[in-house]
Amino acid sequence: MDGNMKKTKTEEEWKEKLTAEQYHVLREKGTERPFTGTLLHNEKEGKYKCAACGHPLFSSRTKFDSGSGWPSFSDIINSAAVDLKTDRGFGMTRTEVLCKACGSHLGHVFDDGPKPTGKRYCINSLSLDFDEEKDNRD
Ligand code: FE
Repeated sequence: MDGNMKKTKTEEEWKEKLTAEQYHVLREKGTERPFTGTLLHNEKEGKYKCAACGHPLFSSRTKFDSGSGWPSFSDIINSAAVDLKTDRGFGMTRTEVLCKACGSHLGHVFDDGPKPTGKRYCINSLSLDFDEEKDNRD
């Protein structure tokens, strides 16, 4: 895919496609309340995709329990998964994680994750869809 090609919709179209809660997180950079996400304790094998556009984002292989109350991953599924952007909101400097395909807000990434990456992608469950699939690698 061309790195500059975004799967864009108008905000009206996003509102039709998404629930109100999803719209707030994905399109208005909201944050779901911790420990409320349906995928927080999902331990099945499979792939996590953008809830807005279906773009593949994370593998179950990198999911871990960070204790934060949001689904957490130590890595992205591949280099075309997300865009990162500096976020200076709320008096903090954080790194925002956005879907590379549609630009929707997913969450933030921090440098206190497990080895080997040391990353903690802290992602709203509302921003994710899950496809269960057996992992055939190794
Ligand atoms: Fe997307």
